[in-house]
Amino acid sequence: MSTIFTQIVEGEIPARIVYEDETTVAFLDANPLSPGHTLVIPKDEYERLDDVPDDVATDLYATIHRMVPAVEDAVDADATTVAFNNGEAAGQEVPHVHCHIVPRFEDDDAGPIHAMFGQRPELDDDELDELADDIESRA
Ligand code: AMP
Repeated sequence: MSTIFTQIVEGEIPARIVYEDETTVAFLDANPLSPGHTLVIPKDEYERLDDVPDDVATDLYATIHRMVPAVEDAVDADATTVAFNNGEAAGQEVPHVHCHIVPRFEDDDAGPIHAMFGQRPELDDDELDELADDIESRA
């Protein structure tokens, strides 16, 4: 069963497509967080960011880079929050990689992504060093 976003790519269900090229598509989110909320996806179906091949990742970023100013200008936004919910535990509902471009306004009161976390972990220097080494070794 293909994802709802693949159905949009295939033209099986309607969407307000605002940009399309060989490998990526951008369209308005059907349930926008703010006016102009746009999703950018690879046309091929990949569930998570690490499933996306390098060349498609490059294309995906190029489309995000192109669409951020287009969206901001269209709705006269002061800023944008640009984010991926990467995996179910992070709130990803559609298992097809998608980047949210959400226009932001000085008075929208939505806060930064930091506002999602009420509490922060207390990590000492040794723990931070160990984490940095571990991540570096996998990069
Ligand atoms: P996420 O929670 O990151 O998986 O976000 C999925 C997003 O897809 C939500 O913001 C939905 O409003 C949006 N969405 C779901 N179905 C459609 C659709 N048919 N057309 C456009 N956007 C959709």
